[in-house]
Formats: sequence, structure tokens, C-alpha cells
Amino acid sequence: MKDSKVLLIYTGGTIGMKENPQEKSLEPFDFNHLTREIPELKKIDCTIDAVSFKEPIDSSDINCEIWEEIGNIIYKNYNEYDGFVVLHGTDTMSYTACALSFMFENLNKPIILTGSQLPIGMVRTDGKENLITSIEIASAKKNHKAIIQEVAIYFEFHLYRGNRTSKVSSEHFDAFISYNYPNLAEIGVEIKYNYPNLLRKRQKKLKYNKGFDPNVLVVFFYPGIQFNNIIKIIRESDLKVVILLTYGSGNLPKNKEFLSFINNHNNDFLFLNVSQCAAGYVEQNNYSNGAVLKEAGVVGVSDMTVEAAIVKSMFLINKYPNDKNKFLKYFNKDLVGEFTE
Ligand code: ASP
Repeated sequence: MKDSKVLLIYTGGTIGMKENPQEKSLEPFDFNHLTREIPELKKIDCTIDAVSFKEPIDSSDINCEIWEEIGNIIYKNYNEYDGFVVLHGTDTMSYTACALSFMFENLNKPIILTGSQLPIGMVRTDGKENLITSIEIASAKKNHKAIIQEVAIYFEFHLYRGNRTSKVSSEHFDAFISYNYPNLAEIGVEIKYNYPNLLRKRQKKLKYNKGFDPNVLVVFFYPGIQFNNIIKIIRESDLKVVILLTYGSGNLPKNKEFLSFINNHNNDFLFLNVSQCAAGYVEQNNYSNGAVLKEAGVVGVSDMTVEAAIVKSMFLINKYPNDKNKFLKYFNKDLVGEFTE
């Protein structure tokens, strides 16, 4: 009897492709024949089952409903497996990692997302190593308990907290980064876990939260931007949260019209301040150009990634649709390691 059981969920993306020998084009390979494609899997000391989306997708087609589809598969199989590996396109992997992290409250098993830059059926693929190591991590235990008890991304010899990552390269094998939180493990000859930085929630019962409200907009600011256009878009929208992607530690031009718009519409929209700088954190008091935003009622988002701020907003506006105070109470709380309080 093998000690661990891992469920592999194939959603699509580059990793599951192989070359059609006649047409030379890439097509998804049949996951029922997984071990024929990757015989090394037989040598891993764990039982591996696989399920595949009927129609594997490019991860740019991911949306809130598909997050739920992935979540439902995991939830339905939660008691039967020791860990889960989600094979996913890299383009929106960080967003899905955020979504799953909020959906699975009090998670005590690993959900590892991985993918690859080159299809698994190509000679120089990074997919095989990513897949094999992800399965090892998803099945790893210490004192009969899962070592990883959170949603993580494994990619090119690093294990990251999923909701702290961003995709930073469409070219290098090393495609992800977690600027504001240490890696969960480094992989070389051995898998070296960074134990003090692993998420440990007090052992409560798993709670599966479903639902996202996508009425969130991100405004990327740049010199010369026309504030009247932005005001018009927001005013005429059904938006609930507007994320201002600001400069540096959270600064914007002091535009009187925009500041008074924010001030007057704080009850209609929630305004959040996330920095365009991927590393570091928002501190609206640092400069007067940030302080005026704070005075107008904009909420600074510390060191959360923009991906995490978007998904957390979608999650909380769905949960507390008419309760701004509750939204803010939980937005400003570290729920699953997504920011430093
Ligand atoms: N466009 C692909 C996707 O995100 C790229 C990849 O898999 O790396 O699905």
C-alpha cells in the first residue's frame, strides 16, 4: 500500500500539450495515458489519480466560474486524497492560486499549482520536472501530517505561497516571483522546506467558500493620464471596488477633481491603493501625494500583490455585498497569508 494519494487536475495550458507527429501542431495529450507520457511517475511512492477538464483551456480564458469548477473538484475529493496538483496555464496561475486560497478556509492539505513554459511532449520541456516535484511536494508528510497546508505554486525549483506570486517572464523557465514573502521551499538535490514560513492555521474544520463578484476595476496610472475619463468610466459603471495602481509607496498626482470624486463617492465604490512597484508596500503617509488619497478615503493595501488585491476584493464583495465595514474589516485582515499585517 502506498502511503499517499494525490489527485492531479488538468485544466489546460502549455504543460499538457504534445506535438501531433503528422501535423506538427500542439494538442492536449490524453490524461488517461499519463504514465505512458511520463513513465517516471510510476517511480514516485504515491498513488496518483488524474482528472482532466473535458475541454482543456488556455488560462487566459479562466474566469470566476472556472475557479469554482476547480474548487468543486478538490472539495468533492478532499477527504480521499492527501494532496492536490492543479496543472494550469501560467498566464493566470497566480490569480487562480489566490482564488483557491480564499475558497479553502482552514486548509490542512497541499494544493500545488504548476505548469510549464514548454509543452511536456517536447524534448527540452520544463514540465516534467515541475510536475514530478509538485507531486512529491503534494504527497510529502512529516509526523503523518502534510508538510504544506496551503495553496502554493511550484515552478522551476522554487515553491511559493500562491497568493504572493506574480508571473514575471513569458520567456524564462523561472517565470514566477514572490517579492514580498520568502519562498516556501527551495529544490535542489533535496527539497528544503522553509518551515518557519509555512502557513499553519489552528486546526479547525475545513470551510469551503464559493462565489466571487467580479465588479472590480484596476486603474493603471501614468503621467499625463486624463482624470476626467477615469471619473466618467467609474461614475457610469456597476463597479464596487476600484483599485488605484499608484506610483511608489502609493502616490498619485494631486488632482482636485479626482480627489473630490473619491471623497463624494466613498459609499458607492471602495477605493484601494496598490502600488505599481511589485516589491515593497503601500504607505500612504510617506508623501503628501499619498496622504491626500488617505484623507479622501482610499484604503492602502500594504504589500499585497495586485492579483491578490483583485481576487480578495471579488471574494469579499460577494461575501458582504452590502456591508462596507465588514468588507474593510476582512480586507485589512490577513486571511491566508496574502499580506503582512
Ligand atoms: N497561454 C498559456 C496559458 O496560460 C501559457 C502557459 O500555459 O504557460 O494557458
